[in-house]
Amino acid sequence: MQAPTDLDAADPLAAYRDRFVGAETPLVYFDGNSLGRPLRATGPRLAAFVDQEWGGRLIRGWDERWFDLPRTLGDRLGEVCLGAAAGQVAIGDSTTVLLYKLMRAAVAARPGRTEIVLDRDQFPTDRYVADGVARECGLTLRWIEVDTNAGVTADQLAAVVGPQTALVVVNHVAYRSAYLADAPELTRIAHDAGALVLWDLCHSAGVVPTELDAWDVDLAVGCSYKYLNGGPGAPAFLYVAERLQDELTQPIQGWMGADDPFLMGPSYVPAPGIRRFLSGTPAIVGMLALADMVELIAEAGLDAVRAKSVGLTAYAVDVADALLAPAGVVLASPADPERRGGHVTLRHPLMRAATAALWERDVIPDYRDPDGLRIGLSPLSTSYAEVRAGLEAVADVLEEVPPLGG
Ligand SMILES: *Cc1c(COP(=O)(O)O)cnc(C)c1O
Repeated sequence: MQAPTDLDAADPLAAYRDRFVGAETPLVYFDGNSLGRPLRATGPRLAAFVDQEWGGRLIRGWDERWFDLPRTLGDRLGEVCLGAAAGQVAIGDSTTVLLYKLMRAAVAARPGRTEIVLDRDQFPTDRYVADGVARECGLTLRWIEVDTNAGVTADQLAAVVGPQTALVVVNHVAYRSAYLADAPELTRIAHDAGALVLWDLCHSAGVVPTELDAWDVDLAVGCSYKYLNGGPGAPAFLYVAERLQDELTQPIQGWMGADDPFLMGPSYVPAPGIRRFLSGTPAIVGMLALADMVELIAEAGLDAVRAKSVGLTAYAVDVADALLAPAGVVLASPADPERRGGHVTLRHPLMRAATAALWERDVIPDYRDPDGLRIGLSPLSTSYAEVRAGLEAVADVLEEVPPLGG
């Protein structure tokens, strides 16, 4: 195995780490897949916004820039990270709310069809929202049982879709295992059954490239505080393919999605295009850090970010094999980097206690049932030396935590 210092020396993106707050400390951060570190540029960006735009332009800011920001920043995110041409991505709300809006829009566009297809290991909010939509609309959830070390396969999807399927919901990268679904293939299978498909990109946006237009995706959502470093609670994004926009309507019909918001007319007429998927006043302050990160990814190149991500996860798997497998730790993520997103999950019966002990030592992974230690490796802010140091700490901690029942 190569020395981490050699891997860092050969890493063309190594210098980007210095652009993040806290990178100079010895803390090991393995949770950039849950909450990305802030960029150093973000502090001054927020201060300048308060002084100049908010404080200086006041209400004029809406006309000058803010009103269009959900769409202009959406276009840029679509171009840099999503493979989406302009006019199809908008920023706003939370992923949960956008899931609701787009699930409702999709099932309304497939009248007479009775099922929403999803898998048992999807992120909880996706399952809960689908459950609510199914109850509201009198539909049935059709569950795919998946291996929790992996995710939905083409054969599994093909076995359950049919003329009854209104919508298929898939997490592009599984939050537990990091399994990377075959998006073009699953999209084709859903379309062959006449269904629409909604991709949740929370764990891929900013780290795994997508080609939403080329893959003929209908709908997608994702959050901006994971690999897009938008900060806690930063607004989410949605994608609606242009060919569907004027056919779909969403249930939270607020004034910002109305044809002429300032007409303030007696009834709601949806705007043409992507703006009809907006609802209320957009969270401008929450978009500023995201905008900086999208530009940083543009500078580094998303393909280079993905190449480093594959390098980091492959290295983590190698180090875990050498240091942790003898202690009984097993890989609970795909071994093939082509089928793996930006994190790896390592299982051991003591991982819950180990996670608490690691946090005390300033080594910050997270824990997911059952027995899984999630090692999230945000490519631009994580070094190979950090991976090595963190996994050495895992090995130490597993020797120290009391055995179960002991
Ligand atoms: C993180 C995550 C979410 C989060 O939804 P919020 O509305 O931002 O809380 C949703 N779906 C997936 C797949 C996630 O990984």
